[in-house]
Amino acid sequence: MSIKVCARCLYSETHPLNLIINAQGLCSGCAVHEEKDVIDWGQRRQNLSELLAQYRCHSGNNYDCIIPVSGGRDSYFIVDYVKNEMGMNPLLVSYNQHYNTDRGIRNLAYLRTLTDSDIFTLTVSPDKVKKITRATLRRLGSVYWHVLAGQSVFPVQIAVRLKIPLIIWGCHQGMDQVGMFSHNDGVEMTRRYRHEHDLMGLEAEDLLSDEDQIFERDIYQYLYPDNDELAKVGVRGIYLNNYLRWDTKKQHEAMILKHGYESASQRRTFDTYNDVDSFIYTDLHDHIKALKWGYSKVTDHACREIRFGRISREDAKAAVAKFSRRKHRFEDLFLDWIGMRKSALRFILDQHRHPDIWCRDAGWAWKRSDKYQKPSAELIEQHRLKLNKDHHFTVSPSRRQGFDESRYELYAKGHVMF
Ligand SMILES: [Zn+2]
Repeated sequence: MSIKVCARCLYSETHPLNLIINAQGLCSGCAVHEEKDVIDWGQRRQNLSELLAQYRCHSGNNYDCIIPVSGGRDSYFIVDYVKNEMGMNPLLVSYNQHYNTDRGIRNLAYLRTLTDSDIFTLTVSPDKVKKITRATLRRLGSVYWHVLAGQSVFPVQIAVRLKIPLIIWGCHQGMDQVGMFSHNDGVEMTRRYRHEHDLMGLEAEDLLSDEDQIFERDIYQYLYPDNDELAKVGVRGIYLNNYLRWDTKKQHEAMILKHGYESASQRRTFDTYNDVDSFIYTDLHDHIKALKWGYSKVTDHACREIRFGRISREDAKAAVAKFSRRKHRFEDLFLDWIGMRKSALRFILDQHRHPDIWCRDAGWAWKRSDKYQKPSAELIEQHRLKLNKDHHFTVSPSRRQGFDESRYELYAKGHVMF
């Protein structure tokens, strides 16, 4: 069976979030992206403002909302917008992903300092995280499950515990990447989406096992509150990309100028803004993504930039070829951390290779099968967007001590002195 490829972006039907390609050769993600140019964003902003007004805590003895944050993806923009543009008093909530770069730690420290925000951080013990990661690596081929689970549940637990009903997330991936929902569906956070997509169908409860030595005490930080608890507080999670024309590149550039967000060149993608806080995300995790799904993070970034008309399909393909070929660097660091041999990791990952994309050659080496059905030249021309912007990602100065650009001192507890 052949695998269809979109005639505008580079996604194929193997996308894990169920992308659909229509009879005209255009994918659901590209179709939903077109809505960004026709929606009345002024009206949407007004709708957001009215919604937020309902959640303002007038007594001043609690926060108005929760914002989940990290040191590397849209957090600056979301906090700046909600706090400085919308005048809300948010509590920032962060799950410590354990794969931190020093740049990510700095970004988070400066975020809370520069926006004068309180933050609640959860750091699960390394032993528990390693135990869980060994199990999810074997069962799902994922080194990142604990991050996805922690990031998506900790804010909800805090919402229940501190009785702060509103959680403000940034972009809904299923909507923005594959058009699983339209901007007109008003999609909000659900337990079901988290289960099926963020967690790849595996809940923390499913990890309980004598064989893996994983018990209740190891996983309770990852349990989603039950429906009664959520209903009692009225917990609700909204996505800002329903209310704003979401453009992560522009947003990061504004935050580099305004707050000095630190970007970084990355080995396996041209996007220097997203995920600079993790050793693993655009490295080993990205290598695994290519084995499981046949494409890597640079394809996500290339598809997004094509849809904004900032890069041609041809240049995007060249960028994908260049970056996806680069070898990841931090496998040994990860193996050392988790206590596993290289051969064991390789054996596990081979079990998770996508069967329609990878096959063995006569010498038993892995090779990519060629089942992709390339769109015709006519269809590609028909769906081609006019190029409107320079495709350029910058690397901002680092505040690392000893750097010439360093203007600030970062103290051990994460405060910043000017
Ligand atoms: Zn597409």
